Amino acid sequence: MISSLTVGGVYESLKAVIGLTKVAADSAVDQKVKAAIFEVQSALYSLQGDALQEREARGKLIAELERMQRELEDLKNQRAKLDGYELYEIEPGHFVYESISQEPSSLNHYVCPKCYQSGTLGILQTTKLKTGQTSWNCSLGCGFVLLTGVARPMPPIRPSSYNARQW
Ligand SMILES: [Zn+2]
Repeated sequence: MISSLTVGGVYESLKAVIGLTKVAADSAVDQKVKAAIFEVQSALYSLQGDALQEREARGKLIAELERMQRELEDLKNQRAKLDGYELYEIEPGHFVYESISQEPSSLNHYVCPKCYQSGTLGILQTTKLKTGQTSWNCSLGCGFVLLTGVARPMPPIRPSSYNARQW
């Protein structure tokens, strides 16, 4: 940042140089002129450095701002996608999210509640089990599994001695 103090200092030094060059014949004054020139050059370098730092800082801020804008845009898109679903009780006590799209072409479907909470859409795929129940699994592989329907009674388990080796 260029401070007015620094600019003022440079101005004062320049004034001093101009004043001193008028009587530069004197070697003592010559030394003062050299010192003043050195001071002016140092101040100018410092100002250039400040300007560079300022430009660099501005560049970083712009990059950061652009990154935040992209992030915000992503979040808006994500929000818009999630808004296309609402909580649905598929069975008493079991909730998933159901698509609520008004477009006739879109297929009604359910998404994983676990993934929905973290902002992504994992479509629930169903599998019919031998028990008669339906298994709902998240397509994103988050581990969400839900069993719906009533299990048919399983055939009685054979006594364990059936499998025992006959010596
Ligand atoms: Zn999931």
